[in-house]
Amino acid sequence: MADPCNLIHYAAHDSSTRGRIHNEASPRYRSAFQRDRDRIVHSTAFRRLEYKTQVFVNHEGDLYRTRLTHSVEVAQISRSIARTLRLNEDLTEAIALAHDLGHTPFGHAGQDALNHCMQPYGGFEHNFQSLRVVDHLEEKYAQFAGLNLTFESREGILKHCSLANAKTVGAVGERFLNKGQPSLEAQLVNLADQIAYNNHDVDDGLRAGLINIEQLQEIQLFEEQYAVVRSQYPKLSQRRTIHEVVRRMINRLVIDLVETSTQLITTANPADIEAVRQQPQPLIQFSEKQHELNQKLKQFLREKLYRHYRVMRMSRKAEQIITQLFNAFMEEPRILPDEQYELLMAQREPERPRIIADYIAGMTDRYALSEHQKIFSPPTPTV
Ligand code: MG
Repeated sequence: MADPCNLIHYAAHDSSTRGRIHNEASPRYRSAFQRDRDRIVHSTAFRRLEYKTQVFVNHEGDLYRTRLTHSVEVAQISRSIARTLRLNEDLTEAIALAHDLGHTPFGHAGQDALNHCMQPYGGFEHNFQSLRVVDHLEEKYAQFAGLNLTFESREGILKHCSLANAKTVGAVGERFLNKGQPSLEAQLVNLADQIAYNNHDVDDGLRAGLINIEQLQEIQLFEEQYAVVRSQYPKLSQRRTIHEVVRRMINRLVIDLVETSTQLITTANPADIEAVRQQPQPLIQFSEKQHELNQKLKQFLREKLYRHYRVMRMSRKAEQIITQLFNAFMEEPRILPDEQYELLMAQREPERPRIIADYIAGMTDRYALSEHQKIFSPPTPTV
C-alpha cells in the first residue's frame, strides 16, 4: 500500500520503516501504520482503558475522562497537527491510542505504588510497560506474542525510559543511550498528550467542584480566553462558558505548536526521518512564551487539583490497594489465578515479581478493587 500522497519527505513513510520484529507481508489496502493503529484498537489492553483512572477514579462519576477518552482526545489533537504539518497521521493516531496502555489502575498513585513495590526487582515505568504490552503481553496472533508493531509505533510509545531499561529493548532503546530524538510524529503526540490533559483536567476539575473559575482567573492561559468569551457572550451559562474557554485554550496551544515547530523544522531542514532522529533537540515544540504559560497551568493543577485533599484521599487508598495486592501475591503466589500462577512458575525466581507487576498493571480500577476485596475482606457471615 502506498503512503498517503501528501506526506512530507521527513515524515514516517511505509517505504522507510525500520520494520517489525517478526517479518510479515505488507497489508493490501492499508499502510503499515494503519495496521498498527487497527491492531491497537482491537487489543485487550485498549478496551481496559475505559475502566482506568485518568485523575478521577472510574466510579466517582460517569462524565470524567477515563484513560480511554483521554487517549481518544490525544489522538484527535495529534491527527490535526500531523495533517497540518504533513506528517503521518496514521502513525500519530497509533501512538496516541497506545501511549497509555501500560498504565496501572488508579492513575499516578497506582503507578507510584507499583514502582515502589518493584524497586528491588527493576522498578515499574508506565511508558516501558506500554511497550511491554504491545511487544509481549497481548495474546492475539498465532505467530508471535504481542502486536508486532512497526519500529516507529514502538519508538513513539516508549516516550521515556530509564537507561537500565533502554539497554534491554534493542534498537528502540538506543536513542535514550545516544541522546537522539524520535520521529516528529512521536514528538507531537508527546505534546498533544500535554495539551489534552491540561485542558481536560481543567474541565473535569471544574465539573467536580475541586477548582473554580476565580482561581483559574489567576492563570493567564485561562484568563485570556475567559475574558474573550465573557465579553462576547456575557449571559452564557457556566457550563457552556467553560467549554468555550477550554476549546479556545486547546486551539491556541495547537496554533502555537504548529507555528513554532514549522519554524524549527524549516531552520533544521531535515533530509529524512533519520535526520530528524539525529537532531540535538526536538523540532516539535511550543514557543518559549507558551511553554512558560503551560508550566503555570501545570503547576496550578498540581497544587490545586492533583493535591486536593479529596484526590489525595483516593490516592492514599489506591496506594494501599496496589501495595497490599502486590505483597499478598509475593508472599503466597498460589492465590494468583491459575494462568498467572503458571506464568510465574515458568520463570526463574528473580523474574517472578515482574509477572505480578504485569498482572496488577493490567487490572482496571474496579477489577483491582474486587481482587482486593476477595483477598482482604472477611466474608459476610450467613446465619
Ligand atoms: Mg497520556
